[in-house]
Amino acid sequence: MAKEVVLTGLRANAEFHLGNYLGGILPMVQLQKKHAGKYQLNMFIPDLHSFTTPIDHGKLYEQTHKNLKYFVAAGLDIDQPDTFIYRQSYIPAHSELTWILDCFTGFGEMSRMTEFKDKAAQIGEDRISIGLFNYPVLMAADILIYSAKYVPVGEDQRQHVEFARDIAVRINNKFGDIFVLPSDNAEQLKFAGREKPVRIRSLRNPDKKMSKSVEDPAGTVMLSDSPEEAVKKIIEATTDSLAKINSDFERQPGVANLLQILALLTGASQSKVNNEWGGKSSYGELKRAVADAVSSFLKELQDKLAAIDDKKLMQKLEADEEAMRKVADATLLKVQKAVGLRPV
Ligand code: ATP
Ligand code: MG
Repeated sequence: MAKEVVLTGLRANAEFHLGNYLGGILPMVQLQKKHAGKYQLNMFIPDLHSFTTPIDHGKLYEQTHKNLKYFVAAGLDIDQPDTFIYRQSYIPAHSELTWILDCFTGFGEMSRMTEFKDKAAQIGEDRISIGLFNYPVLMAADILIYSAKYVPVGEDQRQHVEFARDIAVRINNKFGDIFVLPSDNAEQLKFAGREKPVRIRSLRNPDKKMSKSVEDPAGTVMLSDSPEEAVKKIIEATTDSLAKINSDFERQPGVANLLQILALLTGASQSKVNNEWGGKSSYGELKRAVADAVSSFLKELQDKLAAIDDKKLMQKLEADEEAMRKVADATLLKVQKAVGLRPV
């Protein structure tokens, strides 16, 4: 029997930050370590998604390759035969499937997407592209084209994974058994071994998530920050004036965010970390502990990044793209037949 597919992608509009690592990269690396060989892992750079919001196109190609290297630096073992890395635009079937899915997607349905509304508000009406509006459909194609069952993502992307499942159900109801259904949100969380989805907040504005596309350098720990820069950001993080450590995202989002980062980076359970720190009064001590964890994490990551064999990575990338093109083309053909574009 074919292995179940676990898939995730991170766009290359900018360097990665700590939220990308904890929400998107770490779950894949942990999964690979925990269940070596049990699942097929697809980890890709959705380069086509990378300019749904305005970017400097002169940097995209280089950024794509830089970001790919972070997968390896973070511990993804690319020698495992069931692990695939690829660039989305090198597999044209993603885009072709998107068009077909577009024609079964409601305008109203897309208009309700929280991420669209948030980003549209950030970038201003004259710069909102149809690409931004449409990207959940491309994301659904990214998932369905490889029959992915599990899609580890941060909290912000869960609505889109849910949409991928909805559109798969819709197509299957209309045309028969075409797509493997991605798991629903509850199953996805269970699979990832989390009580709730990961949402790392900005250190400066903890009501908002850490983001690549928001200009918030003091609130964002970039994976390329020097350990010293990152420590400074943690020490200066916004907290509150209650002087009591408590994991309460409603009332104390800054402090809860630090507790969350500490648990995820040290691999301790959230409840253990909350019990250890809960009730204490020194935010300074908590920040110091988080700063130490972030600093040693970055140091190790950056050492590994510097040691990557670019040639080997490129060979793996091209071989995987060829393999994935076949899988993607086969799914596309099935859909083309179903909708009447190819003879049955
Ligand atoms: P942008 O602001 O440009 O959309 P982003 O930081 O949201 O950038 P994406 O490339 O859109 O990054 O998302 C890549 C992955 O990182 C997704 O799985 C997303 O859910 C996850 N992610 C992004 N931000 C966070 C965050 N603050 N906390 C946890 N996960 C996050
Ligand atoms: Mg995003």
